[in-house]
Amino acid sequence: MDYGMIGKIEKAKRYAQERGRFKFVQFTVSFAGDNNPHTVSYGKGNWKCDCDFFILRGTCSHQMALERILDQMIPAAVPV
Ligand SMILES: [Zn+2]
Repeated sequence: MDYGMIGKIEKAKRYAQERGRFKFVQFTVSFAGDNNPHTVSYGKGNWKCDCDFFILRGTCSHQMALERILDQMIPAAVPV
């Protein structure tokens, strides 16, 4: 492996530790629920999930789980 690539891999390892450098703009995730799959999406600061709880309360365990996974890489949601 050439030195250029070694340097890039080292940089990638460092960047991967610096989560705050990354800000997700939009994405859609399929979540394998215990009973049904759910589609969770994020865009322009807004979350959406197709589960009943989200429709009722504007937040849900699927969204909250993703917020934990993406710690520092998305703005925190305000619970309703
Ligand atoms: Zn949900």
